Amino acid sequence: MTTPRPLSDILGAMVGKSDADVALVTKAYEFAKEAHKNQKRYSGDPYFVHPAEVGHLLATAGMDVQAIAAGLIHDTIEDAGVKPKVIEETFGAEVLSLVQGVTKLGTLRYRGLERHTESLRKLFAATAKDLRVLIIKLMDRLHNARTLEHVPRKEKQMRIAQETLEIYAPIADRLGMSVAKQELEDAAFPFAYPKEYEKTREFFKQRRGENEKRLEKTERDLKRELAEAGLRAFRTEARIKGTYSLFLKLERKQWDISKIYDVLALRIIFPTLADCYTALGIIHAHWRPVPGKIKDYIAFPKPNGYQSIHTTVYTGDGGALEIQLRTEAQHREAQYGIASHLTYKEVQSGAEASRGGLEWIRQFVPVWRRSSQKPEPVAHESVTGTIPEWVKELAHAHAEGSASQEYLDTLKADFFSHRVFVFTPKGDVIDLPVAATPIDFAYAVHSDLGDHMSGARVNSKMVSIDTPLRNGDLVEIITKSSAHPTRKWHDIAKTSMAKKHIRAALAKKAGEA
Ligand code: MN
Repeated sequence: MTTPRPLSDILGAMVGKSDADVALVTKAYEFAKEAHKNQKRYSGDPYFVHPAEVGHLLATAGMDVQAIAAGLIHDTIEDAGVKPKVIEETFGAEVLSLVQGVTKLGTLRYRGLERHTESLRKLFAATAKDLRVLIIKLMDRLHNARTLEHVPRKEKQMRIAQETLEIYAPIADRLGMSVAKQELEDAAFPFAYPKEYEKTREFFKQRRGENEKRLEKTERDLKRELAEAGLRAFRTEARIKGTYSLFLKLERKQWDISKIYDVLALRIIFPTLADCYTALGIIHAHWRPVPGKIKDYIAFPKPNGYQSIHTTVYTGDGGALEIQLRTEAQHREAQYGIASHLTYKEVQSGAEASRGGLEWIRQFVPVWRRSSQKPEPVAHESVTGTIPEWVKELAHAHAEGSASQEYLDTLKADFFSHRVFVFTPKGDVIDLPVAATPIDFAYAVHSDLGDHMSGARVNSKMVSIDTPLRNGDLVEIITKSSAHPTRKWHDIAKTSMAKKHIRAALAKKAGEA
């Protein structure tokens, strides 16, 4: 039986905390423990094991105190029946809004259709008004993925696993949180694709010994070479490729292991940027680099902000090895991504919008817009520079009070400012243009639903059918077999799809008359 992680672990992982921070997290810890005291996980463990773990993950990722508190109590509304008002009175409006954001994301369900997957990804961005909501949700999912073996129904296990691979891991990747991404993938892979997992693991086992020997020898030689050149203040680590990531690569390379050089990679972490380039020179002078395998993500960071130099060298034993060079700062950012920036003092002290608004998320939109099922990084279009630069710029703009309006306008000019994402009662996501109405929604779901619509409810309230829909609205269409489209509907509708169906229905009716 697992016992809940102690409060001291969580407090211990928080850096630069005040007495008030300790008090808030302590209160949240005790509150959640009490709220879940009669509940159990599928594993039979006390339910509180889960939120305590989520709180600890958030503290470890360097998240702020509101996020940690919200992580601890994230399931109290949904699963323990705590009233939102109580949370607001106990922890304040900010923590409540985080908890409600996480609860709302929890109602989404992956239904295995690519269309929905894509919409869900967009929805995550559009409705998560505060980036911290996404990060709490990621950590929630991370712990649930780690404990997937206990989920009783195979079907449910598989749905959660696929959802984790198709939605949560790509989001972690977009946010530059590589540790979370890899763990989400590797926890879910065996449950989503058991056969492929076994095959990949078998493959990895066969290769691992040989790769380890090569890595150890290269590491020894390399340390000597670097020391001779006067580079001493560095550390090395072995980077083992995640099983799912290896699987995807094997698929791309038709399972030809000779084309995969990075099952194991050697990572070298230096104090300065100059050291990285000096080391690259030394490495290439000593080992012949594999053509086309040198990638300078320091000069040209990946769209998610990732920075490192990668090169692959022939190791003289008939094989090759990937070597990654980066600074300590780049290493931390590569692991925790966006989360590592949420701890920047300047950002935290800035206006709410600087960390809570959609501006954060919009940075990632150019990457998502063209993403497919398994997105590859694409060129950043509207924003140049890496995460640190734009974080600073944004924080600076807000601190100044004036804000570089032009900069914010650039951010607003992209996709999400032209679309709204609304829910069906089942939790499916419908993607519509701004100012779309329940009529557009109905036709987007199904033409029959549109053709017989008699009214609409938005967020459980009856509304007139020309009401503009807003992001995150839950829309329910009421039908009557006697209801029919009218000329007026045609004027109200915003989408060409709705207009087309209405015209067809009107023409048919005219023909009948
Ligand atoms: Mn949870």
